[in-house]
Amino acid sequence: MPELPEVEGVVRSLQPVVTGKTIYHVTISEVIKQAIEGMTIKSIERRSKYIFFHLEKEGNPYLLVNHLGMTGAWFHVSQLSDITEEKFLKHAHILIQFDDHNWLVYSDIRRFGEMRFLHELEEHPPLLEMAPEPFSDEALSHFLEKVNLTKYANKAVKEVIMDGHVIAGCGNIYATEALFKMNIHPARKLSRISKERKIELFKTIVHILQESIDVGGSTISDYRNINGEAGSMQHRLKMYGKKTCPTCNGDTKQKIIGGRNSVYCPNCQH
Ligand SMILES: [Zn+2]
Repeated sequence: MPELPEVEGVVRSLQPVVTGKTIYHVTISEVIKQAIEGMTIKSIERRSKYIFFHLEKEGNPYLLVNHLGMTGAWFHVSQLSDITEEKFLKHAHILIQFDDHNWLVYSDIRRFGEMRFLHELEEHPPLLEMAPEPFSDEALSHFLEKVNLTKYANKAVKEVIMDGHVIAGCGNIYATEALFKMNIHPARKLSRISKERKIELFKTIVHILQESIDVGGSTISDYRNINGEAGSMQHRLKMYGKKTCPTCNGDTKQKIIGGRNSVYCPNCQH
């Protein structure tokens, strides 16, 4: 599943090729076609795990919001046959042709991630409730304010750091890695972690997200950037998906925490 670093990779590769382009023609999705044909892509940005396409028509701003879900992928190609992996072409949900005749294709192998056309953010309140970007100046103070709320005190730390209201963009992979690096058991109650350790945990998460962005994200299952390339962060993961702990060589354990499968080392993480 694409997490923040993978989405950042997609946005960075889309920015230079589609910014300023006008959408000439849309096929397959009638709803999206009606909405965005004739619009110009002014800019693209990542917000948490969402991709925001800022659009414009006749001086009015619009927004196309996409969440890649489990297997969403964007391709920018000069002809559709340039998408060499058959499965992506077969599951194309949106084909956008620009005025320069290049194609932007959204494909989703398993099921449709999420695609919303909005006039303004307020039309979809969950987008307004997301925590600030983890790399922004206000993210740490927001995090500390949230983790002090009594409603989180008795929750498992892993569940809390994967809550997008607390910190944006920390999914299962990076939560697992950060907790392992800090020797914290994923089911430990938040109230049993000191303020200093919470600050350290926040910084560890941000550091791991940045490291992953730097190496092109993790390619688990079907993630690809827009050139069909895989990232390499999966080779740096130490606990996510592991059977053996790289520190003590003991067997790892699995437990469902907050509805998500969680891997940890019972020797190293307390
Ligand atoms: Zn261990």
